[in-house]
Amino acid sequence: MSEQTLPQPPAGGTPTPPAASQPPAGGTPTPPAASQPPAGGAPTATDLQAVLDRAAAGGRITPEEALDLYRWAPLHALGSAADAVRRRRYAGVEHIATYIIERNINYTNVCVTACKFCAFYVPPKSDKGWSRDLDEILRRCAETVELGGTQIMFQGGHHPDYGVEYYERAFSAIKAEFPQLVIHSLGASEVEHMSRISGVSIEEAITRIHKAGLDSFAGAGAELLPERPRKAIAPLKESGERWLEIMEAAHGLGVESTSTMLMGTGETNAERIEHLRMIRDVQDRTGGFRAFIPYTYQPQNNHLKGSTQATVFEYLRMIAIARLFLDNVAHIQGSWLTTGKEAGQLSLHYGADDLGSVMLEENVVSMAGAKHRSNLTELIHLIRAADRVPAQRSTTYEHLRVLVDPANDPVDPRVASHIASTAIEGGTAHPELKILSAN
Ligand code: SF4
Repeated sequence: MSEQTLPQPPAGGTPTPPAASQPPAGGTPTPPAASQPPAGGAPTATDLQAVLDRAAAGGRITPEEALDLYRWAPLHALGSAADAVRRRRYAGVEHIATYIIERNINYTNVCVTACKFCAFYVPPKSDKGWSRDLDEILRRCAETVELGGTQIMFQGGHHPDYGVEYYERAFSAIKAEFPQLVIHSLGASEVEHMSRISGVSIEEAITRIHKAGLDSFAGAGAELLPERPRKAIAPLKESGERWLEIMEAAHGLGVESTSTMLMGTGETNAERIEHLRMIRDVQDRTGGFRAFIPYTYQPQNNHLKGSTQATVFEYLRMIAIARLFLDNVAHIQGSWLTTGKEAGQLSLHYGADDLGSVMLEENVVSMAGAKHRSNLTELIHLIRAADRVPAQRSTTYEHLRVLVDPANDPVDPRVASHIASTAIEGGTAHPELKILSAN
Protein backbone atom coordinates (compact mmCIF):
# COMPACT_ATOMS: atom_id res chain seq x y z
CA MET A 1 0.00 0.00 0.00
CA SER A 2 1.66 3.24 -1.08
CA GLU A 3 -0.54 5.70 0.75
CA GLN A 4 -2.39 5.09 4.01
CA THR A 5 -5.51 7.08 4.79
CA LEU A 6 -4.63 6.97 8.47
CA PRO A 7 -0.95 7.39 9.34
CA GLN A 8 0.32 4.56 11.53
CA PRO A 9 1.77 5.55 14.92
CA PRO A 10 5.42 4.62 15.26
CA ALA A 11 6.46 1.61 17.34
CA GLY A 12 6.48 2.52 21.01
CA GLY A 13 3.16 4.24 20.84
CA THR A 14 4.41 7.83 20.74
CA PRO A 15 2.87 9.48 17.73
CA THR A 16 4.97 11.99 15.85
CA PRO A 17 3.43 14.84 13.89
CA PRO A 18 2.93 14.06 10.23
CA ALA A 19 5.58 15.32 7.84
CA ALA A 20 4.83 18.72 6.36
CA SER A 21 4.06 17.22 3.00
CA GLN A 22 1.53 14.72 4.37
CA PRO A 23 -2.05 15.40 5.38
CA PRO A 24 -2.41 14.81 9.13
CA ALA A 25 -4.77 12.12 10.44
CA GLY A 26 -8.40 13.00 10.14
CA GLY A 27 -8.06 14.38 6.68
CA THR A 28 -7.60 17.99 7.73
CA PRO A 29 -4.50 19.10 5.88
CA THR A 30 -2.87 22.46 6.19
CA PRO A 31 -2.85 23.89 2.71
CA PRO A 32 0.43 25.08 1.30
CA ALA A 33 0.86 28.84 1.33
CA ALA A 34 0.37 30.51 -2.02
CA SER A 35 3.85 31.98 -1.95
CA GLN A 36 5.62 28.75 -1.05
CA PRO A 37 6.83 26.17 -3.52
CA PRO A 38 4.81 22.96 -3.35
CA ALA A 39 6.08 20.53 -0.71
CA GLY A 40 6.37 16.88 -1.67
CA GLY A 41 4.18 17.23 -4.74
CA ALA A 42 1.45 19.24 -3.04
CA PRO A 43 -0.14 21.88 -5.25
CA THR A 44 0.07 25.51 -4.26
CA ALA A 45 -2.85 27.12 -2.48
CA THR A 46 -3.40 29.24 -5.59
CA ASP A 47 -3.65 26.13 -7.76
CA LEU A 48 -6.05 24.48 -5.32
CA GLN A 49 -8.25 27.56 -5.20
CA ALA A 50 -8.34 27.73 -9.00
CA VAL A 51 -9.61 24.15 -9.17
CA LEU A 52 -12.14 24.83 -6.41
CA ASP A 53 -13.36 27.93 -8.22
CA ARG A 54 -13.75 26.01 -11.48
CA ALA A 55 -15.61 23.17 -9.76
CA ALA A 56 -17.84 25.59 -7.84
CA ALA A 57 -18.71 27.28 -11.13
CA GLY A 58 -19.80 23.95 -12.59
CA GLY A 59 -16.63 22.88 -14.38
CA ARG A 60 -15.65 19.22 -14.47
CA ILE A 61 -12.56 18.24 -12.49
CA THR A 62 -10.18 15.40 -13.26
CA PRO A 63 -9.51 12.49 -10.89
CA GLU A 64 -6.03 13.94 -10.26
CA GLU A 65 -7.51 17.32 -9.34
CA ALA A 66 -10.09 15.62 -7.13
CA LEU A 67 -7.32 13.76 -5.30
CA ASP A 68 -5.41 16.99 -4.76
CA LEU A 69 -8.51 18.68 -3.39
CA TYR A 70 -9.37 15.69 -1.22
CA ARG A 71 -5.87 15.62 0.26
CA TRP A 72 -4.97 19.27 0.45
CA ALA A 73 -7.83 21.73 0.14
CA PRO A 74 -8.79 23.54 3.35
CA LEU A 75 -11.87 21.85 4.80
CA HIS A 76 -14.13 24.87 4.81
CA ALA A 77 -13.10 25.98 1.32
CA LEU A 78 -13.89 22.49 0.08
CA GLY A 79 -17.28 22.52 1.80
CA SER A 80 -18.03 26.01 0.55
CA ALA A 81 -17.35 25.06 -3.09
CA ALA A 82 -19.46 21.91 -2.74
CA ASP A 83 -22.30 23.89 -1.18
CA ALA A 84 -22.14 26.38 -4.06
CA VAL A 85 -22.62 23.50 -6.51
CA ARG A 86 -25.54 22.13 -4.46
CA ARG A 87 -27.23 25.54 -4.29
CA ARG A 88 -26.92 26.07 -8.01
CA ARG A 89 -28.21 22.58 -8.87
CA TYR A 90 -31.21 23.08 -6.59
CA ALA A 91 -31.80 26.76 -7.26
CA GLY A 92 -35.31 27.60 -6.10
CA VAL A 93 -35.47 24.72 -3.62
CA GLU A 94 -31.97 25.06 -2.20
CA HIS A 95 -33.45 25.81 1.22
CA ILE A 96 -34.86 22.26 1.41
CA ALA A 97 -33.17 19.11 2.72
CA THR A 98 -34.93 15.80 2.28
CA TYR A 99 -35.37 12.57 4.22
CA ILE A 100 -37.27 9.35 3.65
CA ILE A 101 -39.14 6.95 5.94
CA GLU A 102 -38.21 3.36 5.13
CA ARG A 103 -37.58 -0.05 6.58
CA ASN A 104 -34.80 -2.52 6.04
CA ILE A 105 -36.19 -6.02 5.89
CA ASN A 106 -33.49 -8.57 6.50
CA TYR A 107 -34.76 -11.78 4.95
CA THR A 108 -31.84 -14.06 5.86
CA ASN A 109 -28.46 -13.84 7.53
CA VAL A 110 -27.15 -16.93 5.74
CA CYS A 111 -24.44 -16.03 3.24
CA VAL A 112 -21.80 -17.80 1.21
CA THR A 113 -19.77 -14.67 0.42
CA ALA A 114 -18.13 -14.09 3.83
CA CYS A 115 -17.07 -10.45 3.46
CA LYS A 116 -14.45 -9.61 6.06
CA PHE A 117 -16.12 -6.36 7.15
CA CYS A 118 -19.54 -7.95 7.69
CA ALA A 119 -20.88 -8.64 11.16
CA PHE A 120 -24.29 -9.78 9.97
CA TYR A 121 -23.82 -13.01 8.06
CA VAL A 122 -23.36 -16.58 9.18
CA PRO A 123 -22.17 -19.40 6.90
CA PRO A 124 -24.79 -21.85 5.58
CA LYS A 125 -24.15 -24.60 8.14
CA SER A 126 -24.23 -22.34 11.19
CA ASP A 127 -26.89 -23.06 13.82
CA LYS A 128 -27.29 -19.26 14.11
CA GLY A 129 -28.70 -18.97 10.61
CA TRP A 130 -32.26 -17.77 10.09
CA SER A 131 -34.63 -16.79 7.30
CA ARG A 132 -37.84 -14.78 7.60
CA ASP A 133 -40.90 -16.42 6.12
CA LEU A 134 -43.16 -14.49 3.79
CA ASP A 135 -45.81 -13.80 6.46
CA GLU A 136 -43.21 -12.12 8.67
CA ILE A 137 -41.97 -10.08 5.74
CA LEU A 138 -45.49 -8.93 4.91
CA ARG A 139 -46.22 -7.99 8.53
CA ARG A 140 -43.10 -5.83 8.49
CA CYS A 141 -44.36 -4.17 5.33
CA ALA A 142 -47.73 -3.54 7.01
CA GLU A 143 -46.04 -1.77 9.90
CA THR A 144 -43.99 0.32 7.50
CA VAL A 145 -47.14 1.52 5.77
CA GLU A 146 -48.85 2.18 9.10
CA LEU A 147 -45.97 4.42 10.19
CA GLY A 148 -45.91 6.46 6.98
CA GLY A 149 -42.98 4.63 5.39
CA THR A 150 -42.82 4.63 1.61
CA GLN A 151 -39.88 2.36 0.84
CA ILE A 152 -38.50 -1.00 1.84
CA MET A 153 -34.96 -2.16 1.48
CA PHE A 154 -34.84 -5.94 1.18
CA GLN A 155 -31.40 -6.80 2.44
CA GLY A 156 -29.80 -10.11 3.31
CA GLY A 157 -27.11 -12.68 2.70
CA HIS A 158 -26.32 -14.61 -0.44
CA HIS A 159 -28.29 -17.69 0.58
CA PRO A 160 -27.19 -20.77 -1.34
CA ASP A 161 -30.82 -21.69 -2.16
CA TYR A 162 -32.15 -18.26 -3.11
CA GLY A 163 -32.29 -17.81 -6.85
CA VAL A 164 -34.42 -15.52 -8.99
CA GLU A 165 -37.57 -17.48 -8.05
CA TYR A 166 -37.22 -16.60 -4.37
CA TYR A 167 -37.13 -12.87 -5.09
CA GLU A 168 -39.93 -13.12 -7.63
CA ARG A 169 -42.15 -14.74 -5.00
CA ALA A 170 -41.27 -12.20 -2.32
CA PHE A 171 -41.60 -9.09 -4.47
CA SER A 172 -44.83 -10.12 -6.16
CA ALA A 173 -46.38 -10.94 -2.76
CA ILE A 174 -45.31 -7.57 -1.35
CA LYS A 175 -46.64 -5.65 -4.36
CA ALA A 176 -49.92 -7.59 -4.36
CA GLU A 177 -50.61 -6.54 -0.77
CA PHE A 178 -48.83 -3.18 -0.61
CA PRO A 179 -48.70 -1.64 -4.09
CA GLN A 180 -47.90 1.73 -2.51
CA LEU A 181 -44.56 0.49 -1.13
CA VAL A 182 -41.53 1.11 -3.30
CA ILE A 183 -39.13 -1.83 -3.34
CA HIS A 184 -35.69 -0.19 -3.39
CA SER A 185 -33.54 -3.20 -2.70
CA LEU A 186 -30.62 -5.47 -3.49
CA GLY A 187 -27.69 -4.65 -5.72
CA ALA A 188 -25.39 -6.06 -8.33
CA SER A 189 -23.96 -8.66 -5.92
CA GLU A 190 -27.37 -10.19 -5.29
CA VAL A 191 -28.13 -10.19 -9.01
CA GLU A 192 -24.85 -11.96 -9.72
CA HIS A 193 -25.62 -14.53 -7.00
CA MET A 194 -29.27 -15.20 -7.92
CA SER A 195 -28.52 -15.50 -11.63
CA ARG A 196 -25.83 -18.09 -10.87
CA ILE A 197 -28.19 -20.07 -8.59
CA SER A 198 -30.97 -20.04 -11.20
CA GLY A 199 -28.69 -20.54 -14.18
CA VAL A 200 -29.97 -17.49 -16.05
CA SER A 201 -28.33 -14.41 -17.53
CA ILE A 202 -27.92 -11.17 -15.61
CA GLU A 203 -30.40 -9.52 -17.98
CA GLU A 204 -33.01 -12.22 -17.39
CA ALA A 205 -32.58 -12.02 -13.61
CA ILE A 206 -33.01 -8.24 -13.64
CA THR A 207 -35.99 -8.34 -15.98
CA ARG A 208 -37.77 -11.00 -13.93
CA ILE A 209 -37.36 -9.38 -10.50
CA HIS A 210 -38.26 -5.98 -11.99
CA LYS A 211 -41.43 -7.48 -13.42
CA ALA A 212 -42.19 -9.09 -10.05
CA GLY A 213 -42.05 -5.70 -8.30
CA LEU A 214 -38.49 -4.48 -7.74
CA ASP A 215 -38.59 -0.75 -8.47
CA SER A 216 -35.01 0.30 -7.88
CA PHE A 217 -31.64 -1.16 -6.91
CA ALA A 218 -30.21 0.06 -3.63
CA GLY A 219 -26.63 0.02 -4.83
CA ALA A 220 -25.50 -2.21 -2.00
CA GLY A 221 -22.33 -4.21 -2.38
CA ALA A 222 -20.31 -1.46 -4.06
CA GLU A 223 -18.02 -1.37 -1.01
CA LEU A 224 -14.73 -0.26 -2.61
CA LEU A 225 -14.75 -0.75 -6.37
CA PRO A 226 -10.98 -0.68 -7.13
CA GLU A 227 -9.46 -4.14 -7.17
CA ARG A 228 -6.91 -4.00 -4.34
CA PRO A 229 -9.12 -2.80 -1.48
CA ARG A 230 -12.10 -4.84 -2.72
CA LYS A 231 -10.11 -8.08 -2.71
CA ALA A 232 -8.80 -7.23 0.74
CA ILE A 233 -12.25 -6.94 2.31
CA ALA A 234 -14.56 -8.98 0.08
CA PRO A 235 -12.46 -11.54 -1.79
CA LEU A 236 -15.46 -13.67 -2.80
CA LYS A 237 -17.55 -10.83 -4.15
CA GLU A 238 -17.67 -10.02 -7.85
CA SER A 239 -15.07 -7.49 -9.02
CA GLY A 240 -15.77 -3.78 -9.00
CA GLU A 241 -15.81 -3.80 -12.79
CA ARG A 242 -18.42 -6.55 -12.74
CA TRP A 243 -20.50 -4.67 -10.12
CA LEU A 244 -20.59 -1.67 -12.47
CA GLU A 245 -21.32 -3.84 -15.50
CA ILE A 246 -24.41 -5.26 -13.77
CA MET A 247 -25.60 -1.83 -12.66
CA GLU A 248 -25.13 -0.57 -16.20
CA ALA A 249 -27.22 -3.48 -17.45
CA ALA A 250 -29.92 -2.64 -14.89
CA HIS A 251 -29.97 1.02 -15.96
CA GLY A 252 -30.24 -0.12 -19.57
CA LEU A 253 -33.26 -2.24 -18.63
CA GLY A 254 -34.98 0.71 -16.98
CA VAL A 255 -34.11 0.01 -13.34
CA GLU A 256 -32.34 2.96 -11.74
CA SER A 257 -30.25 2.73 -8.58
CA THR A 258 -28.25 4.58 -6.03
CA SER A 259 -24.52 4.11 -5.52
CA THR A 260 -22.59 3.73 -2.30
CA MET A 261 -19.08 3.66 -0.90
CA LEU A 262 -17.82 1.93 2.24
CA MET A 263 -15.07 4.14 3.70
CA GLY A 264 -12.41 3.27 6.21
CA THR A 265 -11.32 -0.33 5.73
CA GLY A 266 -7.74 0.54 4.83
CA GLU A 267 -8.16 1.98 1.35
CA THR A 268 -5.98 4.86 0.22
CA ASN A 269 -7.18 8.33 -0.69
CA ALA A 270 -6.32 7.57 -4.32
CA GLU A 271 -8.49 4.45 -4.20
CA ARG A 272 -11.41 6.46 -2.84
CA ILE A 273 -11.14 8.87 -5.75
CA GLU A 274 -10.77 5.96 -8.18
CA HIS A 275 -14.06 4.58 -6.81
CA LEU A 276 -15.72 7.91 -7.68
CA ARG A 277 -14.15 7.90 -11.14
CA MET A 278 -15.51 4.44 -11.88
CA ILE A 279 -19.01 5.54 -10.92
CA ARG A 280 -18.78 8.79 -12.89
CA ASP A 281 -17.69 7.01 -16.04
CA VAL A 282 -20.69 4.65 -15.95
CA GLN A 283 -22.99 7.52 -15.07
CA ASP A 284 -21.82 9.41 -18.16
CA ARG A 285 -23.16 6.52 -20.22
CA THR A 286 -26.36 5.62 -18.32
CA GLY A 287 -27.50 8.46 -16.05
CA GLY A 288 -29.00 5.71 -13.89
CA PHE A 289 -27.42 6.51 -10.51
CA ARG A 290 -29.84 8.76 -8.66
CA ALA A 291 -27.61 9.32 -5.67
CA PHE A 292 -24.22 8.68 -4.12
CA ILE A 293 -24.10 7.61 -0.48
CA PRO A 294 -20.76 7.19 1.29
CA TYR A 295 -20.80 5.61 4.75
CA THR A 296 -18.14 4.55 7.19
CA TYR A 297 -16.98 1.08 8.18
CA GLN A 298 -17.98 -0.08 11.67
CA PRO A 299 -15.30 -2.18 13.34
CA GLN A 300 -17.13 -4.52 15.73
CA ASN A 301 -17.85 -8.24 15.39
CA ASN A 302 -16.10 -8.74 12.06
CA HIS A 303 -12.79 -9.97 10.77
CA LEU A 304 -11.39 -6.49 10.12
CA LYS A 305 -12.06 -5.46 13.72
CA GLY A 306 -9.86 -2.61 14.81
CA SER A 307 -8.01 -2.33 11.50
CA THR A 308 -8.98 1.21 10.65
CA GLN A 309 -11.94 3.53 10.44
CA ALA A 310 -12.66 6.76 8.59
CA THR A 311 -12.82 9.92 10.67
CA VAL A 312 -15.66 12.43 10.58
CA PHE A 313 -13.43 14.90 8.73
CA GLU A 314 -12.54 12.33 6.08
CA TYR A 315 -16.23 11.62 5.72
CA LEU A 316 -17.13 15.31 5.32
CA ARG A 317 -14.34 15.76 2.80
CA MET A 318 -15.74 12.80 0.84
CA ILE A 319 -19.24 14.30 0.83
CA ALA A 320 -17.80 17.55 -0.53
CA ILE A 321 -15.53 15.96 -3.10
CA ALA A 322 -18.38 13.73 -4.29
CA ARG A 323 -20.54 16.80 -4.89
CA LEU A 324 -17.71 18.45 -6.84
CA PHE A 325 -16.49 15.41 -8.79
CA LEU A 326 -19.79 13.62 -9.46
CA ASP A 327 -21.22 16.45 -11.53
CA ASN A 328 -23.55 13.94 -13.20
CA VAL A 329 -25.14 12.50 -10.03
CA ALA A 330 -28.08 14.51 -8.73
CA HIS A 331 -28.19 13.65 -5.05
CA ILE A 332 -25.50 13.33 -2.41
CA GLN A 333 -26.79 11.74 0.78
CA GLY A 334 -25.42 12.55 4.20
CA SER A 335 -25.56 9.62 6.58
CA TRP A 336 -25.97 9.99 10.33
CA LEU A 337 -26.30 6.25 11.01
CA THR A 338 -22.58 5.49 10.89
CA THR A 339 -21.03 8.93 11.42
CA GLY A 340 -23.36 10.45 14.00
CA LYS A 341 -26.10 13.04 13.92
CA GLU A 342 -23.84 16.09 14.13
CA ALA A 343 -21.73 14.86 11.22
CA GLY A 344 -24.89 14.16 9.25
CA GLN A 345 -26.14 17.65 10.00
CA LEU A 346 -22.80 19.18 8.96
CA SER A 347 -22.88 17.21 5.71
CA LEU A 348 -25.80 19.44 4.65
CA HIS A 349 -23.26 22.29 4.49
CA TYR A 350 -20.70 20.20 2.58
CA GLY A 351 -22.75 19.42 -0.49
CA ALA A 352 -25.36 16.93 0.72
CA ASP A 353 -28.99 17.66 -0.15
CA ASP A 354 -30.49 14.70 1.72
CA LEU A 355 -30.14 13.38 5.27
CA GLY A 356 -31.00 9.76 4.65
CA SER A 357 -33.82 8.10 6.47
CA VAL A 358 -35.75 7.24 9.49
CA MET A 359 -35.00 3.54 9.16
CA LEU A 360 -37.66 1.66 11.05
CA GLU A 361 -35.50 -1.43 11.26
CA GLU A 362 -31.82 -1.97 10.60
CA ASN A 363 -29.53 -4.81 11.62
CA VAL A 364 -26.56 -4.98 9.29
CA VAL A 365 -24.41 -2.00 10.31
CA SER A 366 -25.87 -2.04 13.82
CA MET A 367 -24.32 -5.48 14.33
CA ALA A 368 -20.96 -4.02 13.33
CA GLY A 369 -21.26 -1.36 16.02
CA ALA A 370 -23.26 1.56 14.57
CA LYS A 371 -24.92 2.92 17.71
CA HIS A 372 -26.57 6.11 16.52
CA ARG A 373 -30.35 6.18 16.90
CA SER A 374 -32.84 8.85 15.98
CA ASN A 375 -36.48 9.46 15.28
CA LEU A 376 -38.58 11.56 12.97
CA THR A 377 -38.91 14.49 15.39
CA GLU A 378 -35.17 14.64 15.91
CA LEU A 379 -34.32 14.24 12.23
CA ILE A 380 -36.63 17.13 11.39
CA HIS A 381 -35.00 19.18 14.15
CA LEU A 382 -31.51 18.39 12.81
CA ILE A 383 -32.50 19.63 9.38
CA ARG A 384 -34.14 22.79 10.74
CA ALA A 385 -31.11 23.50 12.94
CA ALA A 386 -28.95 23.29 9.81
CA ASP A 387 -31.06 26.15 8.45
CA ARG A 388 -32.98 24.00 5.97
CA VAL A 389 -36.62 23.23 5.52
CA PRO A 390 -37.24 19.47 5.95
CA ALA A 391 -39.16 17.60 3.28
CA GLN A 392 -40.18 13.95 3.28
CA ARG A 393 -39.23 12.51 -0.08
CA SER A 394 -40.02 9.53 -2.22
CA THR A 395 -37.47 7.03 -3.52
CA THR A 396 -37.10 9.17 -6.63
CA TYR A 397 -36.64 12.35 -4.55
CA GLU A 398 -40.01 13.97 -5.20
CA HIS A 399 -41.05 16.10 -2.24
CA LEU A 400 -44.02 14.34 -0.64
CA ARG A 401 -44.43 16.73 2.25
CA VAL A 402 -42.55 20.00 2.70
CA LEU A 403 -42.56 20.99 6.38
CA VAL A 404 -42.65 24.74 5.99
CA ASP A 405 -44.40 25.49 9.27
CA PRO A 406 -42.92 23.77 12.35
CA ALA A 407 -46.38 23.90 13.93
CA ASN A 408 -47.46 21.26 11.42
CA ASP A 409 -44.52 18.91 11.91
CA PRO A 410 -45.46 15.21 12.28
CA VAL A 411 -45.22 14.07 15.88
CA ASP A 412 -45.78 10.29 15.89
CA PRO A 413 -43.25 8.97 18.48
CA ARG A 414 -43.41 5.50 16.95
CA VAL A 415 -41.56 6.71 13.84
CA ALA A 416 -38.11 5.97 15.20
CA SER A 417 -35.02 4.55 13.62
CA HIS A 418 -34.39 0.84 14.16
CA ILE A 419 -36.03 0.96 17.56
CA ALA A 420 -36.14 -2.80 17.81
CA SER A 421 -33.26 -3.95 15.71
CA THR A 422 -32.44 -7.56 16.48
CA ALA A 423 -28.86 -6.32 16.69
CA ILE A 424 -29.49 -4.22 19.76
CA GLU A 425 -29.39 -6.10 23.01
CA GLY A 426 -32.66 -5.61 24.88
CA GLY A 427 -34.03 -3.60 21.92
CA THR A 428 -36.56 -0.95 22.76
CA ALA A 429 -39.50 -2.11 20.72
CA HIS A 430 -42.58 0.02 20.93
CA PRO A 431 -45.33 -2.14 22.46
CA GLU A 432 -47.75 -1.32 19.65
CA LEU A 433 -45.41 -2.79 17.06
CA LYS A 434 -46.14 -6.43 17.54
CA ILE A 435 -43.60 -7.83 15.12
CA LEU A 436 -40.81 -5.72 16.52
CA SER A 437 -41.84 -6.60 20.07
CA ALA A 438 -41.64 -10.27 19.19
CA ASN A 439 -37.96 -9.81 18.38
S1 SF4 B 1 -21.90 -7.94 3.21
FE1 SF4 B 1 -23.57 -9.09 2.25
S2 SF4 B 1 -22.52 -10.46 0.82
FE2 SF4 B 1 -20.97 -9.78 2.28
S3 SF4 B 1 -20.98 -11.34 3.92
FE3 SF4 B 1 -22.38 -9.70 4.56
S4 SF4 B 1 -24.38 -10.42 3.91
FE4 SF4 B 1 -22.85 -11.59 2.74
